[in-house]
Amino acid sequence: MTSSTETTGIVIEPQAEKINLLGLSADKLERFFADIGEKRFRVQQVLKWIHQRGVTEFAAMTDLSKGLREKLGDLAEVRPPELVSQHDSKDGTRKWLVRTDGGECVEAVFIPEKDRGTLCVSSQIGCSLDCSFCATGKQGFNRNLSAAEIIGQVWVAVKSFGGFDERRDRVVTNVVMMGMGEPLMNFDNVVDAMGLMMHDCAYGLSKRRVTLSTAGVVPALDRLGDVTDVSLAISLHAPNNPLRNELVPINRKYPLEILLASARNYLHKLPDTHRKITIEYTLIDQVNDRPEHARELAQLLKELPCKINLIPFNPFPNSGYARVSGNALERFRDILYKQGYTVTVRSTRGDDIAAACGQLAGDFNDLTRRKARHEERYRRNENQPVRMVGFNGS
Ligand code: SAH
Repeated sequence: MTSSTETTGIVIEPQAEKINLLGLSADKLERFFADIGEKRFRVQQVLKWIHQRGVTEFAAMTDLSKGLREKLGDLAEVRPPELVSQHDSKDGTRKWLVRTDGGECVEAVFIPEKDRGTLCVSSQIGCSLDCSFCATGKQGFNRNLSAAEIIGQVWVAVKSFGGFDERRDRVVTNVVMMGMGEPLMNFDNVVDAMGLMMHDCAYGLSKRRVTLSTAGVVPALDRLGDVTDVSLAISLHAPNNPLRNELVPINRKYPLEILLASARNYLHKLPDTHRKITIEYTLIDQVNDRPEHARELAQLLKELPCKINLIPFNPFPNSGYARVSGNALERFRDILYKQGYTVTVRSTRGDDIAAACGQLAGDFNDLTRRKARHEERYRRNENQPVRMVGFNGS
């Protein structure tokens, strides 16, 4: 047994804190086994025990030798995040609150539809990007989730559906990184966790069914295609820079032209053709929902293979914004249709358990007092919604 290794960066010492195998990618697990003098095929066995059978005790991993089970017990553990609560909506949406190592909580949401079951997973505790219409941003940022904490949400969800049984049909068929946080600000851990979602010995989802959603961290997006080929969603929300600067402040650093070029490059790096990017556009009453916005959006996206997902804004206390009206939504959608775009409208699910997009983890943790400051500003009436800021660059 080595006491440390240059290859993995993992320090293996009998008294050291145990390594949580839950979050190790197949590559890292392979290096871990190499470091303790074990064969590669152990990787497949252990991945299956953890992610397909939901086993956390090494003693129960019966196709490993007794010696190896004991060795693993000394050095490692399989520790999912602690489940704090689970809520079921009337419409079948399910939401879990899980506690991470530092005691803070994050949420994951499952949304059943006719032909699929989508799990929405968090990548950070809070978020640093502070998009003006997102409840998570109002909490401030605490820290990145580890790969174990990210894949742990999938583990908890699959387990809660009585998963881990090969004879049953899958309940979770898709995973979207659209919970709390900005996945590209937690690059390595998100890539490792998504690798497990797709690995045949773990959750075995196809790359088309694992989606990373970003507000546009361009340098990280530029690297993403070198290490993965998951589906990509871009949170656009505005068809011009002045308006997007207000709604998605990271746009001031990486404006639309740079972001869309980076998204196109991502598609070019994928080995298969015919992939499309999903453009997410949250429609906010009288902010970004006018016909002019739709036409400008259609023009902006002309060169990008994409489909457009319209998300009616989900209100939260003191947001200062209102949900788009039904008429404005239809008008917006029809303009895009007529220009030949594939457009979907995200139906609001889990309303009764506050499980909708942008509503996650509003109440249990004010991480940096940003939420309190936001409420204070609102009380002083400074936080008026943005109205038609800079349409057409004006
Ligand atoms: N940070 C990532 C993923 C998190 S949010 C991103 O920005 O893509 C997932 C989606 O929900 C994003 O498109 C986000 O802009 C949107 N969203 C956030 N708050 C919302 C709200 N209150 N109503 C509707 N959509 C919201």
